[in-house]
Amino acid sequence: MDKIPSFSKNHDELKKGLYLCGTDHGVTTWDLRFKTPNGGDYLTPAAMHTTEHLIATIVRNSAHKNDIIYFGPMGCRTGYYLLTVNMDYSNVKNLLKESFALAASFTEVPGNKREECGNYLEHDLCAAKKDCAEYLEVLNSL
Ligand SMILES: [Zn+2]
Repeated sequence: MDKIPSFSKNHDELKKGLYLCGTDHGVTTWDLRFKTPNGGDYLTPAAMHTTEHLIATIVRNSAHKNDIIYFGPMGCRTGYYLLTVNMDYSNVKNLLKESFALAASFTEVPGNKREECGNYLEHDLCAAKKDCAEYLEVLNSL
């Protein structure tokens, strides 16, 4: 089988940040890298699940809601992918700054009822808000 593009980038050179992966069929994929790859420090499954609920809810209620295709976690637990249409780097960075700042104000996890989620007991709002605050600092440093 062919090696897919996301395995072809050198993860040893990848640092925390926001990266453009590419555009296919009009959809652009962004790499939101929270952790240094293979750095020994990873996001926890419960915190990732909560961040997914928070940020997916926020971006899908934002001024760019019609430009959002998908937001979800990387299996390696070092970050998330955001898929968009009609948004450039500056649009995405600004939207993410607003969104990760807004995440700090949540006092409960959106969509955390049994009928709304496939693993509703596995959430960690406190850790997710800490991860979001740390990534906001990364965005502010770019
Ligand atoms: Zn869920």
